[in-house]
Amino acid sequence: HRPATTNHIAVLAFPFGTHAMPLLGLVRKLSEAAPHVRFSFLSTAKSNASTFSAWGSIEDDRIKRIDIGDGLPEGYVLGGKQGDLMEHFLEGVAERFKHGVEAAAKEMGEGIGCLISDAFYWFVEEMAEEMKVPWVAVWTSGPRALLTHLDTDVIREHIKSSGSREKPLDFLPGFSEIRVADLPEEVVTESLDSPFPKFLYKMGHHLPRATSVLINCFEEIDKDIQSLLNSRLPNYLNVGPLSMLVLMQQPPSDDHGCLPWLDNHPPNSVVYISFGGFLCPPPHELAALADALLESGIPFLWSFRGNAEGSLPKGLREMGSGKIVPWAPQVQVLMHSSVGAFVTHGGWNSVLESIGGGVPMIGRPCFGDQRLNVKTAENVWGIGVSLEGGVMTKSGVLKALGQVLGSEEGKLMREKVGILQALIHKAAESTGASSRNFSRLAEIVTKSWDQ
Ligand code: UDP
Repeated sequence: HRPATTNHIAVLAFPFGTHAMPLLGLVRKLSEAAPHVRFSFLSTAKSNASTFSAWGSIEDDRIKRIDIGDGLPEGYVLGGKQGDLMEHFLEGVAERFKHGVEAAAKEMGEGIGCLISDAFYWFVEEMAEEMKVPWVAVWTSGPRALLTHLDTDVIREHIKSSGSREKPLDFLPGFSEIRVADLPEEVVTESLDSPFPKFLYKMGHHLPRATSVLINCFEEIDKDIQSLLNSRLPNYLNVGPLSMLVLMQQPPSDDHGCLPWLDNHPPNSVVYISFGGFLCPPPHELAALADALLESGIPFLWSFRGNAEGSLPKGLREMGSGKIVPWAPQVQVLMHSSVGAFVTHGGWNSVLESIGGGVPMIGRPCFGDQRLNVKTAENVWGIGVSLEGGVMTKSGVLKALGQVLGSEEGKLMREKVGILQALIHKAAESTGASSRNFSRLAEIVTKSWDQ
């Protein structure tokens, strides 16, 4: 049983993709709800630096940043692929976090009473058991992706026996419109030898033994899947959308003037483009997208990772009806009435924010759960389209833009996303389900566990 006097929680973040950001947002909100609790937030130095600076100067006596090693071998030359960095990070990650947690306890002069971690970190189950403290696991993606990891064995068996990647997964509730080929590759890969699939495989088996599993989602979406998860995971709590629940409380930083630029456009006329935190589609696809935008003349706002000057045609950069920025206040951009379509990689946060803004999506997924998210938006919720052949070609983009912005089909998508939009906002209200679940979480992490 955890020491009754301890009000110190250690938070173990995953340093890649958009994982640490929403987790720090959650911690910040928890800290407001329980001001007597102190948090140590553990991630790599690089991840902590960017996450803490993005949230503004929130490191204070109550939320302390602790840097852990990134696992890179000495002399490693940076510039490697994200996948390589992740593999190095995963090697020995449990030990590094163990030391980090000990260091946090020392630094704060107070033992740890609870561990909150990214749901990926299955090893925290054992840590929590040894420390006799609760483990709260935070799943930063959607319910459908979570279920595929819990049911990884069943899915693997199905793939082995059916042999086809094109068949729908109709034996899983809510998956009759989803094919094996749409699932995260870590779930369908045959070999569990490589580090990340093996890591996620273990997660699927350990998560049901957490004290509580949180998800960055809202209860009203995918109800059949949600109720299944509810029956299989302890204290399963929808506390999302975190970017809206937490981010909206601080004014957006709009260094490149995206919002005033959008003010000058009529409703549903602009296409917003972002592929998340990485440079994801290859250059020739970005060029195809640029060609389609040039030809269509549709006003666009493009949050471009990397060097736009070197990568995009001059004509596009100088096109009066477009704006290219290195970063946009995406949550607010998608809520702006002038945005009518979102070209996205289908990262979970982007999907939630698109729903929050009532904007239909055009999906160009890259990896992980993104294909599943895009297919769900298209085939299950009817609020998006994917591109012909799964990649961007000039004609494919033009077709998708026409569908979303200029057809009856697009109108229907807008209606459907409008219904979800109302539900997501309701969940996030102070009396909504996500806010109630959040209060329950605050109780869980601050109250005695043995009752
Ligand atoms: N984002 C943003 N401005 C940008 C690009 C991205 O604020 O110009 C934010 C976006 O709002 C979302 C996150 O970055 O919250 C991207 O998360 P997502 O899960 O969609 O993708 P990932 O980066 O993890 O692939």
